[in-house]
Amino acid sequence: MNILIINSGSSSIKYQLLEMPSTKVICVGSIERIGSTDAISNYKTDNNKVEKIYEIANHKAGLERITSLLLDAEIGVLNSTEEIDAIGHRVVHGGSDYTETTLIDEEVKSKIKMLSTLAPLHNPANLQGIVMAEEIFATAKQVVVFDTAFHGTVPVKAKKYAIPNELYEKDGIQAYGFHGTSHKYVSEKANEYLLKENTKLISIHLGNGCSITAIKDGKSIDHSMGFAPSNGLIMGTRSGDIDHSIIYYLVNTLGYSLDDVNELLNKKSGMLGLTGSNDLRDIEEEASNGNADCILALEMNAYRIKKYIGAYTATMNGLDAIIFTAGIGENSSLMRQLVCKDMDYFNFQLDDSKNELRSKNIREVNTTDSKVKILVIPTNEELEIAKQVYELLN
Ligand code: ADP
Repeated sequence: MNILIINSGSSSIKYQLLEMPSTKVICVGSIERIGSTDAISNYKTDNNKVEKIYEIANHKAGLERITSLLLDAEIGVLNSTEEIDAIGHRVVHGGSDYTETTLIDEEVKSKIKMLSTLAPLHNPANLQGIVMAEEIFATAKQVVVFDTAFHGTVPVKAKKYAIPNELYEKDGIQAYGFHGTSHKYVSEKANEYLLKENTKLISIHLGNGCSITAIKDGKSIDHSMGFAPSNGLIMGTRSGDIDHSIIYYLVNTLGYSLDDVNELLNKKSGMLGLTGSNDLRDIEEEASNGNADCILALEMNAYRIKKYIGAYTATMNGLDAIIFTAGIGENSSLMRQLVCKDMDYFNFQLDDSKNELRSKNIREVNTTDSKVKILVIPTNEELEIAKQVYELLN
């Protein structure tokens, strides 16, 4: 089966074509800066790697450009769009209705649209990708995998906020949790590696968005992001946990509008607000040159992660392994070192030389006598979506 995975963001489309069940990647690519005259298209197969700048006005034009690359006589991988059997769409918010991989129909689409109020940055773009794909790949089955789905197992005591009950019951205000596809993928890899299923794991996804999940016996039981993907850890441009009184102060005393506050907390805060950059590579470099803001931001970031590790170890009453994943988790030995420093009370100890080794494979970076394993596991959300689509259709 040829399964095309589409991850349609507000100004980008990332895609991957996989052959299933062999999991062979036929091509991978992305179009970024959609809506501009200088959108960047990246396209890679076993034999070709092409980067080009185009004018791409909207998502439809983006998907048409992708299709013409897939069908290109020289560098393409398909003869016809009908060779795609299924499309797996990543959708960020599935609310409480969708905790499973789902075949797309009109009802699912209208629900994704309704949920746009909860994920205004993500769901509208995800839906646009679905509508375009239905038009272009008319014979393919269209399937959706929700980022929230893996967290459907979080118990009410962990997902409900202490606000009047009707806001939970009638209005669906609760913690939903995100990055579910990634946390599911790496936690299953961890269980395979540990050779057991009844484990207590803490999965730490550190990319531009950052989140942490407590996973017991393969099920998510608590997660740092909440109602929207903004709570919890310090992220590239998002503040993570913040006292809500600050919002009233910004509005009532400092004259911010609610849109300004949204912009401030989602796009101008986090590592960007603390250091002027949201790219951890630059921040680490500046920190090594003695930049005090960067040194403090890295310490704050690690400190927040440590607090969640403490909380989740308590809620699970134990811990078998912590997992680092995504851009920062997989690549930043410094962030892993800051998080794992002085955690002997929690029974884990980093091996500094193993921590410095680079690899694309799952690896253990703890000392041999560390009771709790410290694992670095490269995430692969596309593969996880392809697996789920394949399982649903077979
Ligand atoms: P996204 O959430 O957009 O998928 P990624 O998982 O690609 O993001 O992670 C992006 C982050 O990973 C950026 O902050 C980037 O600086 C960081 N990163 C990537 N490579 C390294 C590295 N070698 N060292 C430190 N940070 C890195």
